[in-house]
Amino acid sequence: MEGFCNERLDYGRMGYGCKHYRRRCKIRAHCCNEVYDCRHCHNEAANMLRNIFDRHELDRYEVKQVICTVCDTEQPVARVCTNCGVNMGEYFCDICKFYDDDTDKGHFHCDDCGICRVGGRDNFFHCKKCASCYSVVLRNNHLCVENSMRHHCPICYEYLFDSLKDTTVMKCGHTMHCDCYDEMLKRDKFCCPICSKSIMDMSKIWMRMDQEIEATLMPDEYRDKKVWILCNDCNDTTEVYFHIIGQKCSHCLSYNTRTIGPPVLPQ
Ligand SMILES: [Zn+2]
Ligand SMILES: [Zn+2]
Ligand SMILES: [Zn+2]
Ligand SMILES: [Zn+2]
Ligand SMILES: [Zn+2]
Ligand SMILES: [Zn+2]
Ligand SMILES: [Zn+2]
Ligand SMILES: [Zn+2]
Repeated sequence: MEGFCNERLDYGRMGYGCKHYRRRCKIRAHCCNEVYDCRHCHNEAANMLRNIFDRHELDRYEVKQVICTVCDTEQPVARVCTNCGVNMGEYFCDICKFYDDDTDKGHFHCDDCGICRVGGRDNFFHCKKCASCYSVVLRNNHLCVENSMRHHCPICYEYLFDSLKDTTVMKCGHTMHCDCYDEMLKRDKFCCPICSKSIMDMSKIWMRMDQEIEATLMPDEYRDKKVWILCNDCNDTTEVYFHIIGQKCSHCLSYNTRTIGPPVLPQ
């Protein structure tokens, strides 16, 4: 968080760049032929257009022209201005047409992702199955979901693959922003909004529910009531005693279950 604030200060002091990146050039958007500070500035503006059919996103690979902010010269994409010789970005990616002076972000271009990422190349690996770069702590340590990051965050609906915010992988393999994940936990929601599976090891919480249930006797008229449940974690259906606090899956012992109608028996 601290780094974030410093970044904003620097941008004000240096007078170059935008709220997203510090750099000494603007880009000409090939799609609408307008000049913007960066791709995100373009997308923010283009997504506010009154006519919904005019709204669009910029294809970073298609940027051909940049304008040096030091001497105002429009020219083909390159690291150094052909007119005044200024370095238009300390980090420069020829593929993404991307410039950024904040090299301590640890930019790197992943050939498999096809985009530039931050956080230091050594701290990431590319998972072919998930088709995205993940933190090295997740190597051999996550459930692969095909194209897991090529989705919108299930909480805030921002596209995750090239989001500027940090993302996390849940136990089920689905992904969302770290901030959105924390927000979800704060609201006592512990199951994945996409597949309903528990997002982490819940055994301690299930143990606490066991104790609560033991301490809470149901009224006489409910004591023998049974219900059918579907377990969100193991997908098993079982018949269990009804309890106001929760129904426990007899198969995997999870309380992440929902009541369902009794199964229809074959005649
Ligand atoms: Zn910007
Ligand atoms: Zn220049
Ligand atoms: Zn790149
Ligand atoms: Zn990658
Ligand atoms: Zn994977
Ligand atoms: Zn989000
Ligand atoms: Zn999930
Ligand atoms: Zn279960």
